[in-house]
Parts: sequence; structure tokens; C-alpha cells
Amino acid sequence: MKYLFIFAIISFSLITISCDETEDLFDGGGTDPLIDREIAEAQDYNLSTPVYGMQVAVRGDVGLGDNAIMGILDRRATSFLDCQFEGGSDLGFEDVMLSNGDTIGPLSELRVFVVPRRFECEAVGLDRCNGIYFFGNDILVVSVGNFSGCPDLPVWKHELGHRYGMEADHSNLNEFRACTDEENCSFEDIIGFDGIQIE
Ligand SMILES: [Zn+2]
Repeated sequence: MKYLFIFAIISFSLITISCDETEDLFDGGGTDPLIDREIAEAQDYNLSTPVYGMQVAVRGDVGLGDNAIMGILDRRATSFLDCQFEGGSDLGFEDVMLSNGDTIGPLSELRVFVVPRRFECEAVGLDRCNGIYFFGNDILVVSVGNFSGCPDLPVWKHELGHRYGMEADHSNLNEFRACTDEENCSFEDIIGFDGIQIE
């Protein structure tokens, strides 16, 4: 019984947290302290993207202007939805029924916390993340990142993928990869997609 309980807790953690670990290779910026669900909840989401009205908090030490960030978030969300779903980018304004039967709200319900670099995170088998999506809270934390050959916020579309049905353990990553990977970015080299080690 005790083991069943522990198993339930671990399973719950897995389905509620997904995270993408990076290698130390290209990110010279080091790792910031822990960002957990409560810290993400406590941010002031006082910015709003022009197209989808996503609620955004940008940490003070992010070296990228708010307008540039808002543009990236909207533009790549559009591109992800157009690529991933038949309904296209208009789905960002609507409730979307996912293949697992869950419904996710319009992007205006999503809160996005933008941070400069990789941070400590709490996930099974992972302790450093470039991005994390908190299922249930509908909060996404994403780093601007500093990866050779990659655009700013290189894991933004990947984390959006988690919002739209990519499993926390990446078991269905192949259904999303074509629409979440960034072009001209040696993503696979720096992001341990299968870095979630469940053992
Ligand atoms: Zn992921």
C-alpha cells in the first residue's frame, strides 16, 4: 500500500511537471536558483502580448526588450499552431480539445514567466531546466537562453507543445517535434529531450 502511494505521487509529479534539461556546453550563463510552481504563481503578469493576450512577466535581468519578447511569443505561437493543428493559429483564441480528451483554454489564459537563463527545477530525474510547463496552473517558464546557433527563447515552442498535449515524459514527442524544433538551431545537441530519466 505504501508503495502504491509513493508510485501515485511519482506519477502525479510526472504528469504535472515537464522540463527540458540542457547540457553545460553552450550556455555560459550558469544556472539560476530554483523556480517552482509557487514562485511562478507569485509573479506579476502585468504584460500582455498584442495578438493572443498571453499574460507575461519578464524578470528584471532579462537582457531583451519587452516588445521583442512579446513579438516572439505571439509570432512563434502562431507558427506552432499553424504547423501543428489543422485548425491553425485561430485555435489560440479558443478552447482546444486535446487527443487525450483534456481541454485547454485560449492562449489568453496562459501565463508566461520569462527568465534570462537556465534555472534549477524540480522534476523527476532533472534539476536544471530551460523551460517548464506547470500543468494544471497553465503557467510556462521559459528562458531567453544563450545557445550557439539558436534564436532567443529556443524552447518556447517546445514548452507550448507541452501545453497542447505533449506528454511530460516526451513519449509522444514525435507528434510535435516537426512543429516545435527551431530552425538553424542545434537543438538536439543542447537540449536533452529524453533527459527525463525515469528509473
Ligand atoms: Zn519537454
